[in-house]
Amino acid sequence: MRIQFWGTRGSIATPGPGTARYGGNTSCVEVRSARGTLVVIDCGTGARALGRKLMSGDANGLRGNLLISHTHWDHIQGIPFFEPLFARSTEWDIFGPKALNASPALGASPDLGASLREALAGQMQYDYFPVTLDECRARIRFHDLVEGSFDLDDIKVSTRYLNHPALTLAYRLEADGVTVVYACDHEPHSHTVALDEGELAEQDRRHVEFVEGADLLIHDAQYTAEEYPEKIGWGHSPVEYVVNVSRHARVKRLALTHHDPLREDGAIDRIIATVRQHASSPDIFAAFEGQVLELGSARGKSPARRGREFDAETPIEPELSEQSVLVGVTDADASAVLCEALRAEGISSQTLSNVDMAGTLMAKERPVLAILEHNPPGINGMDTSREIRRQTKDDEQGLPILMVAEQEDQHGGDAAGITDWLIKPFTVACARAKISAWLLRTACQSIQMGDAAGREHLPGAMEAVHAEPANAFDEPMALCPLPEKGADGQPSEKFSDADKSALLWMYGREIAAFDTPAFSSKVGEIIVRAAAGHQRMRPSTMPPRFSGQGA
Ligand SMILES: [Zn+2]
Ligand SMILES: [Zn+2]
Repeated sequence: MRIQFWGTRGSIATPGPGTARYGGNTSCVEVRSARGTLVVIDCGTGARALGRKLMSGDANGLRGNLLISHTHWDHIQGIPFFEPLFARSTEWDIFGPKALNASPALGASPDLGASLREALAGQMQYDYFPVTLDECRARIRFHDLVEGSFDLDDIKVSTRYLNHPALTLAYRLEADGVTVVYACDHEPHSHTVALDEGELAEQDRRHVEFVEGADLLIHDAQYTAEEYPEKIGWGHSPVEYVVNVSRHARVKRLALTHHDPLREDGAIDRIIATVRQHASSPDIFAAFEGQVLELGSARGKSPARRGREFDAETPIEPELSEQSVLVGVTDADASAVLCEALRAEGISSQTLSNVDMAGTLMAKERPVLAILEHNPPGINGMDTSREIRRQTKDDEQGLPILMVAEQEDQHGGDAAGITDWLIKPFTVACARAKISAWLLRTACQSIQMGDAAGREHLPGAMEAVHAEPANAFDEPMALCPLPEKGADGQPSEKFSDADKSALLWMYGREIAAFDTPAFSSKVGEIIVRAAAGHQRMRPSTMPPRFSGQGA
Protein backbone atom coordinates (compact mmCIF):
# COMPACT_ATOMS: atom_id res chain seq x y z
CA MET A 1 0.00 0.00 0.00
CA ARG A 2 1.32 3.43 -0.95
CA ILE A 3 0.39 6.49 1.08
CA GLN A 4 1.07 10.10 0.16
CA PHE A 5 0.24 13.17 2.24
CA TRP A 6 -1.11 16.13 0.23
CA GLY A 7 -2.38 18.23 3.12
CA THR A 8 -1.36 18.04 6.79
CA ARG A 9 -2.56 21.37 8.23
CA GLY A 10 -5.60 21.63 10.51
CA SER A 11 -8.48 24.10 10.52
CA ILE A 12 -7.32 26.52 7.81
CA ALA A 13 -4.70 26.58 5.06
CA THR A 14 -1.57 28.26 6.40
CA PRO A 15 0.93 28.94 3.61
CA GLY A 16 4.13 30.87 4.23
CA PRO A 17 7.81 30.48 5.03
CA GLY A 18 7.06 29.31 8.58
CA THR A 19 5.13 26.25 7.37
CA ALA A 20 7.10 25.43 4.23
CA ARG A 21 8.50 22.08 5.44
CA TYR A 22 5.41 20.47 7.01
CA GLY A 23 3.07 22.23 4.61
CA GLY A 24 0.22 24.70 4.77
CA ASN A 25 -2.52 22.83 2.90
CA THR A 26 -5.40 21.25 4.78
CA SER A 27 -6.17 17.53 5.13
CA CYS A 28 -5.79 15.21 2.16
CA VAL A 29 -4.19 11.74 1.99
CA GLU A 30 -3.84 9.55 -1.09
CA VAL A 31 -3.87 5.77 -0.61
CA ARG A 32 -3.23 3.21 -3.34
CA SER A 33 -3.37 -0.54 -2.96
CA ALA A 34 -0.85 -2.71 -4.76
CA ARG A 35 -3.61 -3.63 -7.20
CA GLY A 36 -4.13 0.07 -7.98
CA THR A 37 -7.33 0.89 -6.09
CA LEU A 38 -7.30 4.64 -5.46
CA VAL A 39 -8.65 6.11 -2.23
CA VAL A 40 -8.42 9.80 -1.29
CA ILE A 41 -9.11 10.49 2.38
CA ASP A 42 -10.46 14.00 2.94
CA CYS A 43 -10.41 16.72 0.35
CA GLY A 44 -8.92 19.80 2.02
CA THR A 45 -6.91 22.31 0.02
CA GLY A 46 -4.17 19.68 -0.45
CA ALA A 47 -6.47 17.91 -2.90
CA ARG A 48 -5.82 20.55 -5.58
CA ALA A 49 -2.26 19.37 -6.18
CA LEU A 50 -3.30 15.72 -6.01
CA GLY A 51 -5.98 16.38 -8.63
CA ARG A 52 -3.41 18.00 -10.91
CA LYS A 53 -1.13 14.98 -10.56
CA LEU A 54 -3.98 12.55 -11.31
CA MET A 55 -4.87 14.52 -14.45
CA SER A 56 -1.28 14.91 -15.63
CA GLY A 57 -1.04 11.36 -16.97
CA ASP A 58 -3.62 9.43 -18.92
CA ALA A 59 -6.72 10.21 -16.88
CA ASN A 60 -9.10 8.59 -19.33
CA GLY A 61 -11.14 6.06 -17.39
CA LEU A 62 -9.69 7.18 -14.05
CA ARG A 63 -11.64 5.71 -11.13
CA GLY A 64 -11.29 6.81 -7.53
CA ASN A 65 -12.93 6.80 -4.12
CA LEU A 66 -13.18 9.82 -1.87
CA LEU A 67 -13.61 9.18 1.87
CA ILE A 68 -14.74 12.33 3.70
CA SER A 69 -14.30 12.25 7.49
CA HIS A 70 -16.71 15.17 8.00
CA THR A 71 -17.77 18.27 6.15
CA HIS A 72 -15.91 20.98 8.08
CA TRP A 73 -14.30 23.29 5.55
CA ASP A 74 -10.71 22.16 6.09
CA HIS A 75 -11.76 18.67 4.92
CA ILE A 76 -13.79 19.60 1.84
CA GLN A 77 -12.53 22.92 0.50
CA GLY A 78 -10.40 21.17 -2.11
CA ILE A 79 -13.43 19.60 -3.79
CA PRO A 80 -14.25 22.59 -6.06
CA PHE A 81 -10.59 22.57 -7.16
CA PHE A 82 -10.18 18.80 -7.57
CA GLU A 83 -9.79 18.58 -11.34
CA PRO A 84 -10.75 14.90 -11.79
CA LEU A 85 -14.31 15.75 -10.70
CA PHE A 86 -14.62 18.05 -13.71
CA ALA A 87 -13.35 15.54 -16.28
CA ARG A 88 -16.02 13.66 -18.19
CA SER A 89 -13.91 10.54 -18.47
CA THR A 90 -13.51 9.90 -14.75
CA GLU A 91 -15.64 8.12 -12.19
CA TRP A 92 -15.81 8.81 -8.45
CA ASP A 93 -17.53 7.30 -5.44
CA ILE A 94 -17.74 9.81 -2.59
CA PHE A 95 -18.35 8.51 0.92
CA GLY A 96 -19.01 10.39 4.16
CA PRO A 97 -20.92 10.22 7.41
CA LYS A 98 -24.67 10.12 7.11
CA ALA A 99 -26.30 13.04 8.90
CA LEU A 100 -28.96 12.29 11.47
CA ASN A 101 -31.29 14.92 10.04
CA ALA A 102 -31.52 13.00 6.80
CA SER A 103 -35.02 14.00 5.90
CA PRO A 104 -37.26 16.99 6.64
CA ALA A 105 -40.02 14.36 6.86
CA LEU A 106 -38.44 13.30 10.15
CA GLY A 107 -38.94 16.75 11.61
CA ALA A 108 -35.58 18.32 10.78
CA SER A 109 -35.46 21.89 9.52
CA PRO A 110 -35.67 21.89 5.72
CA ASP A 111 -32.68 24.24 5.48
CA LEU A 112 -30.37 21.70 7.09
CA GLY A 113 -28.09 19.50 5.02
CA ALA A 114 -30.02 16.34 4.33
CA SER A 115 -27.23 14.20 2.98
CA LEU A 116 -23.53 14.13 2.25
CA ARG A 117 -24.27 15.23 -1.29
CA GLU A 118 -26.23 18.29 -0.16
CA ALA A 119 -23.59 19.27 2.40
CA LEU A 120 -20.93 19.17 -0.32
CA ALA A 121 -23.15 20.98 -2.81
CA GLY A 122 -23.71 23.73 -0.22
CA GLN A 123 -20.17 25.06 -0.52
CA MET A 124 -20.57 25.24 -4.31
CA GLN A 125 -23.79 27.26 -4.34
CA TYR A 126 -23.93 30.39 -6.50
CA ASP A 127 -22.99 32.69 -3.61
CA TYR A 128 -19.76 30.82 -2.91
CA PHE A 129 -18.51 29.32 -6.15
CA PRO A 130 -19.21 29.78 -9.87
CA VAL A 131 -19.63 26.08 -10.67
CA THR A 132 -22.18 23.90 -8.90
CA LEU A 133 -21.59 20.32 -7.86
CA ASP A 134 -24.17 19.24 -10.45
CA GLU A 135 -21.97 20.71 -13.16
CA CYS A 136 -19.08 18.38 -12.37
CA ARG A 137 -18.72 16.24 -15.46
CA ALA A 138 -17.28 13.14 -13.83
CA ARG A 139 -19.64 10.32 -13.04
CA ILE A 140 -20.13 10.75 -9.29
CA ARG A 141 -21.97 8.51 -6.85
CA PHE A 142 -22.58 9.56 -3.24
CA HIS A 143 -22.70 7.18 -0.31
CA ASP A 144 -23.88 8.07 3.20
CA LEU A 145 -22.11 5.96 5.82
CA VAL A 146 -22.77 4.81 9.36
CA GLU A 147 -20.49 2.71 11.58
CA GLY A 148 -19.65 -0.58 9.92
CA SER A 149 -17.57 -1.82 7.04
CA PHE A 150 -17.60 -2.12 3.26
CA ASP A 151 -15.24 -3.01 0.44
CA LEU A 152 -13.59 -0.80 -2.17
CA ASP A 153 -12.35 -3.45 -4.58
CA ASP A 154 -9.44 -5.05 -2.70
CA ILE A 155 -9.50 -2.58 0.21
CA LYS A 156 -11.66 -3.32 3.24
CA VAL A 157 -12.86 -0.11 4.89
CA SER A 158 -14.23 0.09 8.46
CA THR A 159 -15.71 3.19 10.06
CA ARG A 160 -16.15 4.50 13.59
CA TYR A 161 -17.47 7.79 14.98
CA LEU A 162 -14.91 10.13 16.47
CA ASN A 163 -15.41 12.74 19.21
CA HIS A 164 -15.76 16.06 17.42
CA PRO A 165 -18.33 18.88 17.28
CA ALA A 166 -19.55 17.49 13.95
CA LEU A 167 -20.48 13.93 13.09
CA THR A 168 -17.09 12.56 12.03
CA LEU A 169 -15.88 9.14 10.90
CA ALA A 170 -12.49 7.53 11.31
CA TYR A 171 -11.51 5.14 8.50
CA ARG A 172 -9.61 1.88 8.88
CA LEU A 173 -8.24 0.59 5.56
CA GLU A 174 -6.97 -2.97 5.21
CA ALA A 175 -5.27 -4.30 2.07
CA ASP A 176 -1.99 -5.86 0.94
CA GLY A 177 -1.61 -7.39 4.41
CA VAL A 178 -1.38 -4.01 6.14
CA THR A 179 -3.72 -1.69 8.01
CA VAL A 180 -3.86 2.11 7.84
CA VAL A 181 -6.15 4.09 10.14
CA TYR A 182 -7.07 7.74 9.57
CA ALA A 183 -8.53 9.52 12.62
CA CYS A 184 -9.13 13.26 12.04
CA ASP A 185 -10.69 15.20 13.71
CA HIS A 186 -10.86 13.73 17.19
CA GLU A 187 -10.79 14.90 20.80
CA PRO A 188 -10.21 12.47 23.68
CA HIS A 189 -13.52 11.35 25.15
CA SER A 190 -12.15 11.87 28.67
CA HIS A 191 -10.74 15.24 29.75
CA THR A 192 -8.57 13.48 32.33
CA VAL A 193 -7.05 11.22 29.73
CA ALA A 194 -6.56 14.23 27.44
CA LEU A 195 -4.41 15.84 30.12
CA ASP A 196 -2.26 12.70 30.08
CA GLU A 197 -3.52 11.64 33.49
CA GLY A 198 -5.35 8.50 34.59
CA GLU A 199 -6.35 5.33 32.81
CA LEU A 200 -8.07 5.26 29.45
CA ALA A 201 -11.82 5.65 29.85
CA GLU A 202 -14.43 3.41 28.22
CA GLN A 203 -15.00 5.35 24.99
CA ASP A 204 -11.25 5.98 24.62
CA ARG A 205 -10.72 2.24 25.00
CA ARG A 206 -13.17 1.75 22.11
CA HIS A 207 -11.07 4.20 20.11
CA VAL A 208 -8.00 2.11 20.92
CA GLU A 209 -9.81 -1.04 19.74
CA PHE A 210 -10.57 0.62 16.40
CA VAL A 211 -6.93 1.50 15.72
CA GLU A 212 -5.61 -1.76 17.23
CA GLY A 213 -2.56 -3.17 15.47
CA ALA A 214 -2.43 -0.53 12.73
CA ASP A 215 0.76 -0.55 10.68
CA LEU A 216 0.20 3.19 10.26
CA LEU A 217 -2.04 5.46 12.31
CA ILE A 218 -2.63 8.93 10.86
CA HIS A 219 -4.05 10.90 13.79
CA ASP A 220 -5.16 14.42 14.64
CA ALA A 221 -2.54 15.87 17.03
CA GLN A 222 -3.33 19.56 16.88
CA TYR A 223 -2.45 20.44 20.48
CA THR A 224 -0.21 19.48 23.38
CA ALA A 225 -1.53 18.42 26.80
CA GLU A 226 -0.31 21.78 28.13
CA GLU A 227 -2.40 23.68 25.57
CA TYR A 228 -5.45 21.45 25.92
CA PRO A 229 -7.23 23.16 28.88
CA GLU A 230 -7.74 26.22 26.65
CA LYS A 231 -9.06 24.11 23.80
CA ILE A 232 -11.58 21.79 25.47
CA GLY A 233 -14.53 21.09 23.22
CA TRP A 234 -12.75 22.21 20.05
CA GLY A 235 -12.57 18.60 18.89
CA HIS A 236 -8.85 17.89 18.62
CA SER A 237 -6.24 15.74 20.32
CA PRO A 238 -3.15 16.55 22.36
CA VAL A 239 -0.04 14.76 21.09
CA GLU A 240 0.43 12.94 24.43
CA TYR A 241 -3.02 11.33 24.15
CA VAL A 242 -2.32 10.13 20.61
CA VAL A 243 0.96 8.54 21.71
CA ASN A 244 -0.86 6.91 24.65
CA VAL A 245 -3.57 5.50 22.37
CA SER A 246 -0.93 4.23 19.93
CA ARG A 247 0.96 2.39 22.66
CA HIS A 248 -2.18 0.74 23.99
CA ALA A 249 -3.22 -0.22 20.45
CA ARG A 250 0.25 -1.53 19.54
CA VAL A 251 0.41 0.75 16.52
CA LYS A 252 3.64 0.34 14.54
CA ARG A 253 3.99 3.81 13.02
CA LEU A 254 2.28 7.00 14.10
CA ALA A 255 1.89 9.97 11.75
CA LEU A 256 0.86 13.11 13.65
CA THR A 257 -1.16 15.44 11.44
CA HIS A 258 -3.79 18.21 11.39
CA HIS A 259 -1.02 20.53 12.62
CA ASP A 260 -2.27 23.65 14.34
CA PRO A 261 -2.25 26.75 12.08
CA LEU A 262 -0.23 28.55 14.77
CA ARG A 263 2.46 25.84 14.81
CA GLU A 264 5.42 26.66 12.60
CA ASP A 265 7.93 24.06 11.42
CA GLY A 266 10.44 24.58 14.26
CA ALA A 267 7.70 24.10 16.88
CA ILE A 268 6.62 20.83 15.25
CA ASP A 269 10.25 19.64 15.28
CA ARG A 270 10.45 20.36 19.00
CA ILE A 271 7.23 18.46 19.75
CA ILE A 272 8.45 15.41 17.85
CA ALA A 273 11.84 15.54 19.63
CA THR A 274 10.08 15.68 23.00
CA VAL A 275 7.68 12.79 22.41
CA ARG A 276 10.50 10.63 21.02
CA GLN A 277 12.44 11.19 24.24
CA HIS A 278 9.62 9.66 26.23
CA ALA A 279 8.48 6.98 23.84
CA SER A 280 10.66 4.42 22.08
CA SER A 281 7.66 3.00 20.28
CA PRO A 282 5.76 3.37 18.09
CA ASP A 283 7.80 5.06 15.38
CA ILE A 284 6.47 8.63 15.69
CA PHE A 285 6.77 11.38 13.10
CA ALA A 286 4.97 14.51 11.98
CA ALA A 287 3.41 14.05 8.54
CA PHE A 288 4.55 16.57 5.94
CA GLU A 289 3.09 17.61 2.62
CA GLY A 290 4.44 15.41 -0.18
CA GLN A 291 5.63 12.63 2.16
CA VAL A 292 5.35 9.12 0.67
CA LEU A 293 5.19 5.88 2.66
CA GLU A 294 5.23 2.33 1.27
CA LEU A 295 3.67 -0.35 3.47
CA GLY A 296 3.42 -4.13 2.99
CA SER A 297 3.66 -5.92 -0.29
CA ALA A 298 1.48 -7.11 -3.12
CA ARG A 299 1.60 -10.61 -1.63
CA GLY A 300 -0.06 -9.50 1.60
CA LYS A 301 -2.93 -11.40 3.15
CA SER A 302 -6.57 -10.55 2.44
CA PRO A 303 -8.28 -8.38 5.09
CA ALA A 304 -9.64 -10.40 8.01
CA ARG A 305 -13.39 -10.56 8.57
CA ARG A 306 -14.47 -10.21 12.17
CA GLY A 307 -17.72 -12.12 12.67
CA ARG A 308 -20.90 -10.55 11.32
CA GLU A 309 -19.99 -7.05 10.31
CA PHE A 310 -22.54 -4.32 9.69
CA ASP A 311 -22.72 -2.86 6.18
CA ALA A 312 -21.75 0.82 6.63
CA GLU A 313 -23.96 1.76 3.66
CA THR A 314 -27.17 0.35 5.17
CA PRO A 315 -30.08 2.83 4.78
CA ILE A 316 -31.53 3.57 8.23
CA GLU A 317 -34.22 6.22 7.70
CA PRO A 318 -37.18 4.15 8.97
CA GLU A 319 -35.41 3.44 12.24
CA LEU A 320 -34.62 7.12 12.75
CA SER A 321 -38.28 8.10 12.42
CA GLU A 322 -39.14 6.39 15.69
CA GLN A 323 -36.47 7.78 17.92
CA SER A 324 -37.15 9.59 21.17
CA VAL A 325 -34.75 10.73 23.87
CA LEU A 326 -35.35 10.68 27.62
CA VAL A 327 -33.89 13.77 29.32
CA GLY A 328 -33.34 14.20 33.07
CA VAL A 329 -31.35 17.44 33.27
CA THR A 330 -32.12 20.37 35.61
CA ASP A 331 -29.18 22.73 35.00
CA ALA A 332 -30.72 25.62 33.05
CA ASP A 333 -27.76 26.24 30.74
CA ALA A 334 -27.16 22.57 29.94
CA SER A 335 -30.88 22.04 29.43
CA ALA A 336 -31.14 24.95 27.00
CA VAL A 337 -28.16 23.69 24.99
CA LEU A 338 -29.61 20.17 24.85
CA CYS A 339 -32.99 21.50 23.76
CA GLU A 340 -31.39 23.44 20.95
CA ALA A 341 -29.38 20.39 19.88
CA LEU A 342 -32.40 18.07 19.91
CA ARG A 343 -34.53 20.61 18.08
CA ALA A 344 -31.87 21.15 15.42
CA GLU A 345 -31.68 17.41 14.78
CA GLY A 346 -35.48 17.00 14.76
CA ILE A 347 -35.49 14.61 17.71
CA SER A 348 -38.41 14.45 20.14
CA SER A 349 -37.71 14.15 23.84
CA GLN A 350 -39.46 13.34 27.08
CA THR A 351 -38.62 14.78 30.47
CA LEU A 352 -37.64 12.43 33.24
CA SER A 353 -38.29 14.49 36.35
CA ASN A 354 -38.52 11.64 38.80
CA VAL A 355 -36.52 8.44 39.02
CA ASP A 356 -39.71 6.46 39.66
CA MET A 357 -40.94 7.48 36.22
CA ALA A 358 -38.07 5.69 34.52
CA GLY A 359 -39.64 2.25 34.12
CA THR A 360 -42.97 3.55 32.86
CA LEU A 361 -41.44 6.05 30.45
CA MET A 362 -39.08 3.40 29.15
CA ALA A 363 -41.91 1.00 28.44
CA LYS A 364 -44.24 3.63 27.02
CA GLU A 365 -41.99 5.96 25.09
CA ARG A 366 -39.39 3.42 24.05
CA PRO A 367 -36.52 5.93 24.16
CA VAL A 368 -33.33 5.03 22.36
CA LEU A 369 -31.10 7.37 24.39
CA ALA A 370 -31.20 8.73 27.94
CA ILE A 371 -29.45 11.97 28.89
CA LEU A 372 -29.13 12.36 32.66
CA GLU A 373 -27.44 14.87 34.94
CA HIS A 374 -25.29 14.13 37.95
CA ASN A 375 -24.87 17.07 40.35
CA PRO A 376 -25.57 15.86 43.90
CA PRO A 377 -27.22 16.64 46.17
CA GLY A 378 -29.52 18.46 43.70
CA ILE A 379 -29.77 15.70 41.12
CA ASN A 380 -28.19 12.26 41.25
CA GLY A 381 -27.86 10.88 37.75
CA MET A 382 -25.89 7.88 38.95
CA ASP A 383 -28.85 6.70 41.05
CA THR A 384 -31.20 7.33 38.14
CA SER A 385 -28.98 5.36 35.80
CA ARG A 386 -28.83 2.43 38.21
CA GLU A 387 -32.60 2.57 38.55
CA ILE A 388 -33.10 2.58 34.77
CA ARG A 389 -30.85 -0.44 34.44
CA ARG A 390 -32.66 -2.19 37.30
CA GLN A 391 -36.21 -1.34 36.29
CA THR A 392 -35.72 -2.31 32.69
CA LYS A 393 -33.65 -5.44 33.33
CA ASP A 394 -31.12 -3.78 31.07
CA ASP A 395 -28.25 -5.98 32.16
CA GLU A 396 -26.50 -5.71 28.85
CA GLN A 397 -26.73 -1.93 28.97
CA GLY A 398 -28.21 -1.73 25.48
CA LEU A 399 -29.73 1.72 26.11
CA PRO A 400 -26.99 4.37 25.80
CA ILE A 401 -26.97 6.65 28.86
CA LEU A 402 -25.22 9.98 28.41
CA MET A 403 -24.25 11.71 31.68
CA VAL A 404 -24.10 15.50 31.99
CA ALA A 405 -21.75 16.53 34.81
CA GLU A 406 -19.14 19.03 35.94
CA GLN A 407 -16.51 16.32 35.79
CA GLU A 408 -16.38 12.70 34.82
CA ASP A 409 -16.25 9.82 37.28
CA GLN A 410 -15.22 6.86 35.18
CA HIS A 411 -15.27 4.25 37.95
CA GLY A 412 -18.57 5.45 39.41
CA GLY A 413 -19.98 5.75 35.91
CA ASP A 414 -18.96 2.22 34.97
CA ALA A 415 -20.67 0.87 38.09
CA ALA A 416 -23.84 2.88 37.39
CA GLY A 417 -24.02 1.82 33.74
CA ILE A 418 -23.07 5.19 32.18
CA THR A 419 -22.18 4.90 28.50
CA ASP A 420 -20.70 8.31 27.75
CA TRP A 421 -20.21 11.76 29.29
CA LEU A 422 -21.09 15.34 28.35
CA ILE A 423 -18.92 17.55 30.55
CA LYS A 424 -20.25 21.05 31.29
CA PRO A 425 -20.05 23.51 29.73
CA PHE A 426 -20.63 22.06 26.28
CA THR A 427 -21.75 23.63 23.03
CA VAL A 428 -24.77 22.89 20.86
CA ALA A 429 -22.39 21.52 18.21
CA CYS A 430 -20.79 19.07 20.67
CA ALA A 431 -24.20 17.94 21.94
CA ARG A 432 -25.56 17.50 18.40
CA ALA A 433 -22.61 15.39 17.31
CA LYS A 434 -22.70 13.20 20.40
CA ILE A 435 -26.47 12.71 20.32
CA SER A 436 -26.36 12.03 16.56
CA ALA A 437 -23.66 9.40 16.93
CA TRP A 438 -25.55 7.52 19.64
CA LEU A 439 -28.89 7.70 17.82
CA LEU A 440 -27.34 6.47 14.59
CA ARG A 441 -25.64 3.64 16.49
CA THR A 442 -28.95 2.67 18.08
CA ALA A 443 -30.67 2.73 14.68
CA CYS A 444 -27.99 0.44 13.28
CA GLN A 445 -28.33 -1.83 16.28
CA SER A 446 -32.07 -1.98 15.61
CA ILE A 447 -31.47 -3.08 12.03
CA GLN A 448 -28.89 -5.60 13.13
CA MET A 449 -31.38 -7.11 15.48
CA GLY A 450 -33.59 -7.81 12.52
CA ASP A 451 -37.23 -7.33 11.69
CA ALA A 452 -40.17 -6.25 13.84
CA ALA A 453 -39.76 -9.24 16.13
CA GLY A 454 -36.15 -8.34 16.67
CA ARG A 455 -37.06 -4.74 17.46
CA GLU A 456 -39.18 -5.88 20.38
CA HIS A 457 -35.89 -6.59 22.12
CA LEU A 458 -34.55 -3.10 21.77
CA PRO A 459 -33.70 -1.41 25.05
CA GLY A 460 -36.53 1.07 24.75
CA ALA A 461 -39.01 -1.71 24.23
CA MET A 462 -38.05 -3.63 27.33
CA GLU A 463 -40.66 -4.53 29.80
CA ALA A 464 -40.52 -2.47 32.96
CA VAL A 465 -40.17 -4.39 36.20
CA HIS A 466 -41.79 -1.60 38.11
CA ALA A 467 -44.78 0.22 36.61
CA GLU A 468 -46.39 3.33 37.98
CA PRO A 469 -50.19 3.74 37.92
CA ALA A 470 -51.22 4.16 34.31
CA ASN A 471 -52.69 7.63 34.69
CA ALA A 472 -49.53 9.06 36.23
CA PHE A 473 -47.76 9.32 32.90
CA ASP A 474 -50.53 9.49 30.37
CA GLU A 475 -49.25 12.86 29.30
CA PRO A 476 -45.50 12.95 29.62
CA MET A 477 -44.10 16.41 29.08
CA ALA A 478 -41.89 16.97 26.12
CA LEU A 479 -38.66 18.74 27.00
CA CYS A 480 -38.20 20.19 23.52
CA PRO A 481 -41.44 19.69 21.65
CA LEU A 482 -41.48 19.77 17.90
CA PRO A 483 -44.76 21.41 17.00
CA GLU A 484 -44.83 19.80 13.60
CA LYS A 485 -44.96 16.37 15.18
CA GLY A 486 -48.63 15.95 15.93
CA ALA A 487 -49.09 18.89 18.26
CA ASP A 488 -52.83 18.72 17.68
CA GLY A 489 -53.00 15.44 19.56
CA GLN A 490 -53.84 13.47 16.43
CA PRO A 491 -51.60 10.74 15.16
CA SER A 492 -49.38 12.33 12.55
CA GLU A 493 -48.39 10.82 9.23
CA LYS A 494 -44.67 10.98 10.01
CA PHE A 495 -44.24 7.25 10.30
CA SER A 496 -45.61 6.40 6.89
CA ASP A 497 -44.07 9.51 5.35
CA ALA A 498 -40.70 8.37 6.58
CA ASP A 499 -41.24 4.93 5.10
CA LYS A 500 -42.25 6.46 1.79
CA SER A 501 -39.23 8.68 1.79
CA ALA A 502 -37.02 5.70 2.63
CA LEU A 503 -38.47 3.75 -0.27
CA LEU A 504 -38.06 6.66 -2.66
CA TRP A 505 -34.55 7.18 -1.39
CA MET A 506 -33.67 3.58 -2.06
CA TYR A 507 -35.06 3.74 -5.60
CA GLY A 508 -33.39 7.07 -6.16
CA ARG A 509 -29.93 5.99 -5.08
CA GLU A 510 -27.37 6.28 -7.77
CA ILE A 511 -25.91 3.02 -6.62
CA ALA A 512 -28.55 0.55 -5.57
CA ALA A 513 -28.08 -3.19 -5.60
CA PHE A 514 -31.73 -3.76 -6.44
CA ASP A 515 -31.39 -7.45 -7.08
CA THR A 516 -29.82 -8.49 -3.80
CA PRO A 517 -31.62 -10.38 -1.00
CA ALA A 518 -30.76 -7.52 1.37
CA PHE A 519 -32.57 -5.02 -0.86
CA SER A 520 -35.62 -7.25 -1.26
CA SER A 521 -35.91 -7.84 2.45
CA LYS A 522 -35.54 -4.10 3.15
CA VAL A 523 -38.37 -3.24 0.76
CA GLY A 524 -40.51 -5.99 2.29
CA GLU A 525 -39.84 -4.68 5.77
CA ILE A 526 -40.84 -1.14 4.81
CA ILE A 527 -44.09 -2.33 3.21
CA VAL A 528 -44.99 -4.43 6.27
CA ARG A 529 -44.33 -1.53 8.56
CA ALA A 530 -46.30 0.92 6.41
CA ALA A 531 -49.24 -1.50 6.48
CA ALA A 532 -49.02 -1.66 10.26
CA GLY A 533 -50.24 1.93 10.23
CA HIS A 534 -50.00 4.08 13.28
CA GLN A 535 -49.89 1.44 15.93
CA ARG A 536 -46.38 2.37 16.99
CA MET A 537 -46.90 6.11 16.97
CA ARG A 538 -46.00 7.68 20.26
CA PRO A 539 -48.67 9.73 22.05
CA SER A 540 -48.83 13.28 20.75
CA THR A 541 -49.27 15.26 23.90
CA MET A 542 -46.62 17.85 23.39
CA PRO A 543 -47.33 21.40 24.44
CA PRO A 544 -47.20 23.83 21.55
CA ARG A 545 -44.14 25.80 22.57
CA PHE A 546 -40.70 25.11 24.00
CA SER A 547 -40.60 26.08 27.66
CA GLY A 548 -36.89 26.86 27.65
CA GLN A 549 -35.92 24.49 30.45
CA GLY A 550 -36.10 20.84 31.23
CA ALA A 551 -39.38 20.91 33.03
ZN1 LIG B 1 -10.19 19.60 10.65
ZN1 LIG C 1 -13.45 19.36 12.08
